[in-house]
Amino acid sequence: MENVWLQENKWQDVEEYLQTKKTIIVPFGSVEQHAHHLPLGTDSFVAQKVAEDIGKLTDTLVAPPTWTGWAPHHMAYPGTVTMRPETLTAVAEDLLQSLIYHGFEKLIIVNGHREANLPPLRIAMTRLRNKTGAFISIVDPFYFNKEKGKELRKSAPGGIGHAEELESSHMFYLFPDLCDPSKVQTNIPEKHRFLEHDPFIEGDRLLTASDVSNYREATNGVGLMGDAAPSDKATGEAYHKAFLENFAELIRYCEEEVEVVLRNQEIPL
Ligand SMILES: [Zn+2]
Repeated sequence: MENVWLQENKWQDVEEYLQTKKTIIVPFGSVEQHAHHLPLGTDSFVAQKVAEDIGKLTDTLVAPPTWTGWAPHHMAYPGTVTMRPETLTAVAEDLLQSLIYHGFEKLIIVNGHREANLPPLRIAMTRLRNKTGAFISIVDPFYFNKEKGKELRKSAPGGIGHAEELESSHMFYLFPDLCDPSKVQTNIPEKHRFLEHDPFIEGDRLLTASDVSNYREATNGVGLMGDAAPSDKATGEAYHKAFLENFAELIRYCEEEVEVVLRNQEIPL
């Protein structure tokens, strides 16, 4: 498929696509601070690149991307933009419902903002599943590429968080011109074991909320949580390839095993 982005196609192309295929990938991201070495758009760039690459690899259409996510704690640093969670839920619901109206049955959200966008997106997904019967899923690197992440990480426990080695390596591989590897830092604060956020470390956990002042403090005035020092392009490449392999398997699963009968295909009004 030449143009995987829906917005680069003509409406007849979409009509033709829907005669044989009912799957579409829907990227969501965030524009938020990513320390001194990664651009603000990191989460959106990653979601869109993963979506585009897997779209090309599997001939699957990709829906228009949503750049902005739910990131109130990152407002601690200039340039971050955030939506209220209700807004993000509404945006996701309307976008997906439009696609379902046209007959897309299997919708795969790629969430580049890891973890933080999940509550509003899961609400949208659950509502639409119940309303329309569509198969809707979320590909989030923390969960979907977890095994490769665990294998590739080099940092000490607490090293995975925000703008750390895996995210940085991935960006150094995908968008080297937007990154500055000379500015990587390490920030692994001493924490009570319940407060550990590193998703690849096993343990009992407590969920808490941050505000801008404690987040700024926790990220050392830099915006980094974890360890970016071990980042390199080769790790990013291995991480990306594993991501695409899993994703290709998911697309095959959707095509071959998931059966959907749509109902209530309505225009968002
Ligand atoms: Zn990020």
